[in-house]
Amino acid sequence: MKVVILGGGFGGVYTAQNLKSCWPLGEKLDVTLISRSSHFEFKPLFPEVFAGRLSPDHVRFRLHDLCRACHVKIAQITGIDPRKNVVKTDKGDVKYEYLVIALGGQPESVPVTQGAELSFFESLDDAVRLRDRVAALARQMRSGRTKSRARNSVVIIGAGPTGIEIASEASYLLGTNRDKPAAASKRPRADIYLIEFAPQILHAWGQALRDETRRILGEAGVHLLTSTRVSRIERGRVYLNGERSISADAVVWAGGLRGLPLYQSLGSPLDRYGRFRVNARLQLPRHENVFAMGDAINTAGFPMPIPQSAQAAFQQAHCVAANVRRSIAGKALKEFRYSELGVAMPVGGRRAVAHIGGLPIEGHVAWALEKALFTARVPGLANKLKLFDGLALEPLEQEGMRYLKEKGIEWEFLRENAE
Ligand SMILES: Cc1cc2nc3c(=O)[nH]c(=O)nc-3n(C[C@H](O)[C@H](O)[C@H](O)COP(=O)(O)OP(=O)(O)OC[C@H]3O[C@@H](n4cnc5c(N)ncnc54)[C@H](O)[C@@H]3O)c2cc1C
Repeated sequence: MKVVILGGGFGGVYTAQNLKSCWPLGEKLDVTLISRSSHFEFKPLFPEVFAGRLSPDHVRFRLHDLCRACHVKIAQITGIDPRKNVVKTDKGDVKYEYLVIALGGQPESVPVTQGAELSFFESLDDAVRLRDRVAALARQMRSGRTKSRARNSVVIIGAGPTGIEIASEASYLLGTNRDKPAAASKRPRADIYLIEFAPQILHAWGQALRDETRRILGEAGVHLLTSTRVSRIERGRVYLNGERSISADAVVWAGGLRGLPLYQSLGSPLDRYGRFRVNARLQLPRHENVFAMGDAINTAGFPMPIPQSAQAAFQQAHCVAANVRRSIAGKALKEFRYSELGVAMPVGGRRAVAHIGGLPIEGHVAWALEKALFTARVPGLANKLKLFDGLALEPLEQEGMRYLKEKGIEWEFLRENAE
């Protein structure tokens, strides 16, 4: 039986692993995973790369290593023909008997005039580019080469968890949370604007977490503008509510995703954001051998709210793999049930706000807990150890070296005496 999985992100990789790990059926399945990138990128850790605490190699993993029992094809998918059971790619057509669509979404942006630059935060390359951009701005400010206050500003559009994480980490990189008040300081200052069109941030989260996040953003020196819509972006300027504008050295889009244009090629019902409408078993209506999941689908009709998150895609991957197996065996399919394990959001400088197991947690403990959960989720023992080293051991080692240096103790001296 030929199963083709589209996308090497959360939904795709975990579906492939679940399908192949089921003995004895997994042995008989011919599973092909198609993705445009040769690596699985662990998006929830992008803010750590942006902050410079992890290197890109800590958060990207080779698909060939993760899906050893599958065929991995690196290709750009251009269309799907469900009548002929064929996926079209830039490297030729691929036939399937069962299809799993886990291609995620693409940023839904506002008009950007020619010459203006808009950064995204959807790939590891985006995160590294933005880190370099903000670091260059920080260097310019330190060297005193930027004089006018108006020129040092970063605008982040969208105050969801990703926008808040970028704004908080940027506040550490640019020093807005530590600086003296502008009037008292002669150094050029940065302004970080976080813009949200809804009247409140994090509407799906509890009031306590919302208030705590607002307080932390305030302390970080982030200007939070709610009920504000970005109407267009021009070179160096962002227009708000069609009227006033603010200057911007960097503009980052964290304002949500829409479906990929190629989703239209199936002729299946889409929502107004171009995402698939699926039934409770995660199948496309009228195409019982086609499943979709993750950021590619609209889950508004489900009995419980389901976020567009890695956590949801991970759980959907279990359900889809089970349903492919059940369908092959001629059994009734399972309905998807989402269980919320908790929410956590880093707020800069190894701190986070979280609500885990019904308990609100804040600070370094919340950050460590979130990172421990991610480390457990990262596929493969070697990858987990590498990540643990990057998150915990390397900072401890650096802290130790700093302490020894402060005390005037040379590392070489200690080593020689130990021998
Ligand atoms: C910065 C950031 C931080 C996040 N933090 C969290 C968090 O803390 N917790 C949480 O639960 N969620 C978090 N999320 C959300 C989570 O990462 C996504 O919801 C999740 O990745 C969705 O999984 P997916 O499989 O649907 O899509 P993705 O993981 O996006 O995978 C899509 C795959 O399809 C491939 N692809 C796309 N188009 C094509 C094409 N035309 N041809 C070939 N291949 C293609 C891509 O290369 C990719 O491999 C975060 C997201 C971001 C961007």
